[in-house]
Amino acid sequence: MMARQARTHAATRPPTGIEPLALDREEVATLADVRRLAVGCQRCGLYKHATQVVTGEGGEHSRLVLVGEQPGDQEDQQGRPFVGPAGRLLDQCLREADLDRDECYVTNAVKHFKFERRGKRRIHERPNAGEVQACRWWLDRELKIIEPQLVVALGATAVQALLGRGISVMKQRGQVLPDPGGLQVLVTVHPSYLLRIPASDAAEHARAAFIEDLRSIHAILGK
Ligand code: SF4
Repeated sequence: MMARQARTHAATRPPTGIEPLALDREEVATLADVRRLAVGCQRCGLYKHATQVVTGEGGEHSRLVLVGEQPGDQEDQQGRPFVGPAGRLLDQCLREADLDRDECYVTNAVKHFKFERRGKRRIHERPNAGEVQACRWWLDRELKIIEPQLVVALGATAVQALLGRGISVMKQRGQVLPDPGGLQVLVTVHPSYLLRIPASDAAEHARAAFIEDLRSIHAILGK
């Protein structure tokens, strides 16, 4: 059934793309392989409207991997993860938590930007469960290559991708939970959540709580 579906789709897809079944036969042994092969990925429909695929950034031996939701408008244009407003806030909060982004691998659960066009603007749209599941293939490869000591799930989509189930991020933030493969996953919010809170005491508290979650990484990594 799977094979029949894949062949049916093949008739309507551009010839440059990489079919899910063909991808399964490719050896993805390095992060360079991930970057090269993800360019042609057609495992879900999100490649059709995005500018480019955005894979993770950072070292192959990073002890810490940060996983967000998906590239935003600026990430989609620049081809790099976490370079827009949420990325800049993440950088600030990492610094305040005495963490160095250059020592982390930063990626997203979904590698293509999903959006709705409103006039000239492209408004972020949350990826659905099927898209998260399809793109988990890439996240799996990134994690297998890096073998980090800790993965930080930034927000609900990352949690869903990593744990394979939804949990209440607000209730379980700060906790370290095992993923099905045994990786340790620290649950916290996505920095874009902080950006949506209007300037207020509540916004300051939310930011402080996020930095606190990030600070707990030192103890988990035994730094
Ligand atoms: S979002 Fe992920 S699975 Fe879907 S086409 Fe892009 S890289 Fe492939």
